[in-house]
Amino acid sequence: MKKRPNQQRFETRAIHAGQEPDPLTGAVVTPIVHASTFVQDGIGENRGYIYSRVGNPTRLTVERCVADLENAETAFAFPTGLAAAATVLEVLDHGSHIVAHDDLYGGIHRILQDVRTRSAGHRVRFVDFSDTDAVRAAVTADTSLLWYETPSNPMLRIVDIEAVSRIARENGALSVCDNTFASPYLQRPIDLGADIVIHSATKFLCGHSDMMAGIACVSPWAPDDVAERLKFLQNAVGAVLGVTDCAMLLRSLKTLPVRMDRHCRNARLVAEHFAETADRFGLDDVHYPGLPGHPGHDIAARQMSDFGAIVTLMLRGGLDRADTVLRRTGIFKFAVSLGGVESLIQHPASLTHKAVPAEKREKVGVTDGLVRISVGLEHASDLIADLESALAS
Ligand SMILES: *Cc1c(COP(=O)(O)O)cnc(C)c1O
Repeated sequence: MKKRPNQQRFETRAIHAGQEPDPLTGAVVTPIVHASTFVQDGIGENRGYIYSRVGNPTRLTVERCVADLENAETAFAFPTGLAAAATVLEVLDHGSHIVAHDDLYGGIHRILQDVRTRSAGHRVRFVDFSDTDAVRAAVTADTSLLWYETPSNPMLRIVDIEAVSRIARENGALSVCDNTFASPYLQRPIDLGADIVIHSATKFLCGHSDMMAGIACVSPWAPDDVAERLKFLQNAVGAVLGVTDCAMLLRSLKTLPVRMDRHCRNARLVAEHFAETADRFGLDDVHYPGLPGHPGHDIAARQMSDFGAIVTLMLRGGLDRADTVLRRTGIFKFAVSLGGVESLIQHPASLTHKAVPAEKREKVGVTDGLVRISVGLEHASDLIADLESALAS
């Protein structure tokens, strides 16, 4: 039987889902169970746990909480987003055909293109997932998996989740949506038909740039054996999230809605300001799905409740200008990653997307003058002033 969706609102679920006061002590927050092994009462008889790689109460709690927030049947916690992605890919048989977004986080591109084509014989076709017709044309009866992000990294292209999920289903393929940029507070791909949702929980779910984690969630409507296979693989492959990090992630989830509201508000103010003053500040373009001129704005408005915290700025002047700007910001720290309370600025062409060949990078728009900002929770006026002074000639 499928679980009945939780009827409470998101804010309430973020604090309580999957969590009860500890029955032994009454502790209000989930205890961290460091034990690697659990006593067995007899052969085939235990209190639900055997060995912590197989299952651990602290991990199970955070897995249940994220599953609830994504309206998933189950979720599995991994030590990084890439470990979650790698384990999801293990669901496929050797030599599978994958259709993947051409605007993907560099590390996901790398595991598909440079690791699994070699070690698992997969064949990967990259297409622009913001073009539903291109996806339809690339998927064949032979395709086992569709993999995309929306909003995508770093171009913030928007994928029509419902349309792509339908294409996957019609062709008997699984679809995986990387929901890292939106978080379940803004977008729930499973409700729109995705089979699997993955997260780099290192980003918004954690939200404080002080830990790494990955999550894979399985839809109640995914083919029956997917959740079982992932559960098997999490243990069989062995990458599980450590219990201290599980507890930190649980704590972070409680403030996700509050943080996301402010992230989105600040990002909108920054994006609107620099879209209006682009010429004065030497910008060729400002990408943000919340701007009415953004090519994916209408779909984003339909499938997301707000537009997220990531903005990309196309600087006039290429690499040299980018270097100057990155050295000049004060509040915006020049560092990779995103989704933390502090604002960050980075240079995809030389950092997160270095693994993507230059030609392919330029084709999708990741040029030398592109900088990506993750708008944090500082005061919007300070953030705008900081960028203005870095961009001033
Ligand atoms: C960071 C990121 C990943 C990789 O996650 P790690 O936690 O760094 O392993 C995957 N997808 C997206 C969209 C990301 O931003």
